[in-house]
Amino acid sequence: RVRIQGISKRFGDLEVLRRIDLDIEPGKLVCLLGPSGCGKSTLLRILAGFEPPTEGTVSIGGRDVTTFPSKKRDIAMVFQNFALYPHMSVESNIAAPLVMSRLSFLRRQPLFRFFSPSAQKIRREIRERVVETASLLQIDKLLKRKPAQLSGGQKQRVAIGRAIIREPLLFLMDEPLSSLDAGLRTQMRGEIAALQKRLGITTIFVTHDQTEAMTMADQVVVMSGGVILQSGSPREIFEDPAHLSVAKFLGSPS
Ligand code: ATP
Ligand code: MG
Repeated sequence: RVRIQGISKRFGDLEVLRRIDLDIEPGKLVCLLGPSGCGKSTLLRILAGFEPPTEGTVSIGGRDVTTFPSKKRDIAMVFQNFALYPHMSVESNIAAPLVMSRLSFLRRQPLFRFFSPSAQKIRREIRERVVETASLLQIDKLLKRKPAQLSGGQKQRVAIGRAIIREPLLFLMDEPLSSLDAGLRTQMRGEIAALQKRLGITTIFVTHDQTEAMTMADQVVVMSGGVILQSGSPREIFEDPAHLSVAKFLGSPS
């Protein structure tokens, strides 16, 4: 479970987040929805450990990780621009987190160890995991390509593959569909939600697109001006918006 308690963030005089409390059940897909500048990315960056909060605590999987560096938090993040390694193949991009965690200890050993049977076994296991993950995302035919030879949707899948290969406790996505065209956005929306259900990784998906949030999420968290206006299932929020600005934002009947 992910628990955010009393998170505030100030940049100098600017108060970007004000006492944010949020509880997320394991295995759920949560959409953070709100207009530009309301603090969505800042909250995600604090969860990821890229930015310290001014106040408050974050716990992931029962551990208080507020002071932990990003690497120690067991999270994975997909960015808006995908941030793939351009010089590396699709296969190496997806494998990178596993290679770093599993082969790094061998790197420090003498060369013969690096080519030892145990190192080869690890490499074989990694290769199998990559193929498995790539088939899940339907990019198993593209493993030898470089990012520049891929379409936007394919790059997106590679970025997701790289993020989920280690089965993180928490998967963070910051507007991952915003650079795709409308048709592909709709398609990826369904695919990401289905994949999330299948793997059961707790996921936070940031968007300012209400359709995206309402169709994908188990729980929608509506933010505005650094606070949470409402949190609930898509149906609860649509049928009973807690706040006039939520109703306006969603075009709800009331
Ligand atoms: P968008 O939908 O446009 O991505 P957002 O909800 O993700 O918006 P944030 O990026 O979290 O918004 O930014 C919230 C506010 O904090 C903005 O006013 C932004 O200018 C400010 N801000 C973000 N990062 C910093 C920083 N490093 N230093 C100063 N101000 C910042
Ligand atoms: Mg943002």
